[in-house]
Amino acid sequence: MKNECSIVGDLLALWMDGLVSEDTAAFVEEHLARCAACRARLEQLRAPAAPPETVQEERAFYAFAARWKKKRRRVLAAFVALSLAAAMLAACLFSLLTFGTANFASAAWGLAQVTFLEEPWAEVSAAPKVVLAAPETDITNYMAGRGFAENEQERMSALRVFEKDGVQEHVLCGVNRSFARWVWQ
Ligand SMILES: [Zn+2]
Repeated sequence: MKNECSIVGDLLALWMDGLVSEDTAAFVEEHLARCAACRARLEQLRAPAAPPETVQEERAFYAFAARWKKKRRRVLAAFVALSLAAAMLAACLFSLLTFGTANFASAAWGLAQVTFLEEPWAEVSAAPKVVLAAPETDITNYMAGRGFAENEQERMSALRVFEKDGVQEHVLCGVNRSFARWVWQ
């Protein structure tokens, strides 16, 4: 019987394609009728071949690429948003440390005014009040324009005190090469 199975095995593909004689066909069919093992073998031959692994990998890759294409725009948008947020945060921090206000745009505009437009000073923040001025500018001129006079006796180095009708304002004054910074306390 084993020997017969081996012969039928050799003939199965030819028999499926109708390439055997009537006698051989009858022999194969008669054997298949009583041999489960050869019927199973026949089922295997009839089943569509599984795609080779490389094809499967290729399909998986294209499926992934398609999904990625859809996601890419969202990922890119999120990346841009995060980068902008990080840049704005950095700008705010820099602005706070350098100019005394977290509003970088306002600080930059104030600096441009006193540097390039040669304004004597520019208010860059209202609360707390922060004023940028050209480095050589004397704050007493600015305060005099608002009707305030300095109380020299209360001055503590960089912290200066100005008075008008019994109202005091305390201003922390700093200066570097590019600008003077007055921060109201
Ligand atoms: Zn058999």
